[in-house]
This record gives sequence, structure tokens and C-alpha cells, in this order.
Amino acid sequence: MSVERAERLGCTTIQIFSHSPRNRHVEDIPYEEAARFIELRKVSGIAPLFVHASYLINLASASDDVWEKSITLLTREMELADVIGADYLVLHPGSVASGQGEAYGRIIGALKRIGQRPGSGGQWKSTILLENMAGDKDGLLSSFSGLAGIIEQIGGIKTPGAIGGSVVGGICLDTCHAFVSGYDLSTAHGLAELTDEIGACMGPTAVRLVHLNDSKKECASKVDRHEHIGAGKIGETGLKRLVNHPAFADIPLILETPKKEPDDDSGNLARVRAFFNHPLLY
Ligand SMILES: [Zn+2]
Repeated sequence: MSVERAERLGCTTIQIFSHSPRNRHVEDIPYEEAARFIELRKVSGIAPLFVHASYLINLASASDDVWEKSITLLTREMELADVIGADYLVLHPGSVASGQGEAYGRIIGALKRIGQRPGSGGQWKSTILLENMAGDKDGLLSSFSGLAGIIEQIGGIKTPGAIGGSVVGGICLDTCHAFVSGYDLSTAHGLAELTDEIGACMGPTAVRLVHLNDSKKECASKVDRHEHIGAGKIGETGLKRLVNHPAFADIPLILETPKKEPDDDSGNLARVRAFFNHPLLY
């Protein structure tokens, strides 16, 4: 139903789960169902299609068991993303409990293995977007320079059509995660700091998706609680400034705002669309 629902809301891109994200066991998607989905999406013109990976995946885990299970589940995610014709798989790179340097190596090792496509000589059609995490701005997985380091170690960002090499197609910027990790997106200065860092460490085209969320919690609080657009601590001005910034001019926006009332999505969408009527100037 995702394509129909997106069309009803006037959306031009979607993010979905390909299975229950809290379940380790993942059934195959029947061929007819996948074919129907691909056809519906083609007719609707909705693109790109983002799949969000399971929350159970932790490529940074120090436990060999969890790490291996995470690689297995991520491989499954890539298979399903290809089956339904997704463009990108959005991945939280991992959560770090202990030594950061060690965790970094685990993530790099896992992504290299996924890139080799275990059990098959073929190539993945979709690529992975690494999402910035809601931690400490100086932490490896919350900073864009940290994510750039991972990407560099696995062979850079995959260029469309390239054979072999990296499985990562770019970055997903989550505005709530960036804010609570210390990038103050409520101010022009904070936004400039963020875009400068991204530009310097990975180039402006690395960002392929923005998760546009307001934040219930303060800047640098390290607490990840998404809020309705304009109702949180980043606020309307901060988010409006971001979506109109030249660095994000052609980047798809996906809302991950709370869904408690039936009109929550339409309300948030209306607020974001209004941001483009009277854009801030740079
Ligand atoms: Zn997100």
C-alpha cells in the first residue's frame, strides 16, 4: 500500500521497511508481489525508493555472534532491496559501546564483506547510505568526518554502474540526529558548520537523502526524540533554512516525524512544502 498512500499524500519519494525491522527472521517477498510493487511505483513516478534497514543490525558490535548475525541480516536487506527495485538502503552504521577505534574496524570489515556479495558473484543493484547517528558530535558515527573515514576505507562512494568496489552510495543526513549530537541547526552558523564539514570531508554530493525531523531535545543532548516539523528545538526557521540551502537543493527529503493522529503526516508535509514558498535568502 506504500505507493498508493504516498500518492494520496502527494509524495514524490518514499522510505519503507522491506520487512518488520524488529524481526531477525525475514521471509522472501513473493515474485508477484514484488513485480506488482515495481509496476505501481513505475506508473506513479515515485523515485528514488529508500528502504530503511533493520534496527537489529549493529556492524560495530564487539560480539562476534552479533556481528555475524548483523552481516547476515544486512545481506538479506540488500537482497530484498534489489528484489523490490530500491535505489538505496539506509543504514545506521552501528552503536558503539566500547572502544571507538575497534568499532570502526568492525564496521569497515563488515561493509567490505557485504560489498563482496557473499554467496554470489553478482553485483548489488542498490547501494547503502550511511546515516549519521545521534551521539556525540566528536564521535565517529555522529560526525561527518567520521563517516567519511569509513567510506574512504572501503573504497569511496560507489559510482553508478561501477563494477566491484564500495557498496556505499553516500550519506543520509538526519537533522534530529545532527542537532542532538551538537550541530546547532537552529542557527545559520550551525548549519554553515555542518555544510562546511560535509563539503570538506566527503564533497557536497555525498548526501543523497535528508531525514527531515525536528527534535524534542536540546542541541548536544545526545537524546534522539523526533518531533513534528517546527514544533521542536530546531524549529521552523532552522529547518526552513536547511531545506533551502544550496547544498540540499536537489536532495530528497523524508519525514520520520511522530504518527499519532491520522493527519500528522499531512500536517508535517504541509509545513515543509510551505518552506519553499518564501525561501530564506543566502
Ligand atoms: Zn533517520
